[in-house]
Amino acid sequence: MKITSVYLDVLYEAQPDCKTIDVSIEQHSQRFAVLHGGLRMISMILPDVFVGRDLDVSVKSDGQLVIGSITSRSITHGPLGIQHDPRGIEECLQNASPAPVSLQWFATWKCNYKCNYCWQETTRDSYRKVRNADVTPVEWIEAFSRIPVQEFYISGGEPTVLPGMLDIVNGIGQRVPIKMTSNLGKSFDVDQWIKEVDPNNLDCVTFSFHPTQQSWEEYSSKITRFADAFGGHKTGCELVMHPGQKHFEQGIRDMQKKLDLRTINIDVYHVQPAKFPPKPGEGTDRCPHQDTSLTMAPRATDKTDPVYCSAGVNRVNVDPLGDVYTCMSAIDRGKMFGQEALPHYRSTGNVFEGFSMSREPTLCWEKFRCSACDASIVQDSWTPHPYPYELPLPE
Ligand code: SF4
Ligand code: SF4
Repeated sequence: MKITSVYLDVLYEAQPDCKTIDVSIEQHSQRFAVLHGGLRMISMILPDVFVGRDLDVSVKSDGQLVIGSITSRSITHGPLGIQHDPRGIEECLQNASPAPVSLQWFATWKCNYKCNYCWQETTRDSYRKVRNADVTPVEWIEAFSRIPVQEFYISGGEPTVLPGMLDIVNGIGQRVPIKMTSNLGKSFDVDQWIKEVDPNNLDCVTFSFHPTQQSWEEYSSKITRFADAFGGHKTGCELVMHPGQKHFEQGIRDMQKKLDLRTINIDVYHVQPAKFPPKPGEGTDRCPHQDTSLTMAPRATDKTDPVYCSAGVNRVNVDPLGDVYTCMSAIDRGKMFGQEALPHYRSTGNVFEGFSMSREPTLCWEKFRCSACDASIVQDSWTPHPYPYELPLPE
């Protein structure tokens, strides 16, 4: 096949007995761990020297595997048969313009708690073990000062385990009042916050209650002291509705009323059962290249309809190394798939290396995966792409 760029995409569907795939071109060979559950895609980066040549690509596996397509990609969504729609891009940018430019910083993946429902558990090998950037609080403040944002939200992990967090809050907060989520554990010293943080530098700190890690007495007394000092309008509370802790809901609701707290988040607990395709090959015909008749018959749900999304344009997420991603989904998928992640999941720059916001929206078919934090900023920008087909999930 003609290799037109360094991006080679392999769409496949694997059965549970298949664990690895080897993709080889000439002497270059790479092994990938298989993902199950439907149509998946490896987005592989080839050495530059292959571009422009006619080469054989071979794919081998250690179990039952059906290949959907192998594409040398020249446009972002080439393997899925989608071209860009200039009108959709323009409409998305227009719809996004009233929203604030918003940055969410995952200050650290480290956490002093170990909740069994933590979303970081999806890639437990990498979260928490990843080091923080080797920079001072002043360097963080300077790096963020170069990005013009109207909303600055700090989360983690537990952000207050990062050394110098109070200096960072005061440094950035003078320009944009800080929003933060914390677990209110040992690293959150309420007395020190009262002594050192100027209330004008805070927009709102939301405290999550994790009953397996902290007593109600400790949580409620710390949040009360914080709200008394900074005001209920700068304080929020949060609970994950895990089956083992649903009985705390009423207490949290009562406390919000009593302290007149600005926000209360009662988070849905997500269970994710593993699914396998019932028989080999099922799902590969959903690839538009394989069965064009499907492009004429949209499926019942709009969950994976492709949309243009302003993530990257008016919303970015920054990880503990300063790497920037369009959204939280991109951070998570980028972490799971690393170099093989789809293009819109890869980092778009680093805050210490002259990063600037994107001018083009992201074409996304996974808005159902959107975190509430991202969706609250970008959802008004979602503009349907005219491609009349519910896309498969290639990762
Ligand atoms: S406090 Fe938050 S980040 Fe820490 S383990 Fe619990 S859910 Fe995860
Ligand atoms: S996951 Fe959400 S924020 Fe990310 S690109 Fe898709 S719609 Fe936008």
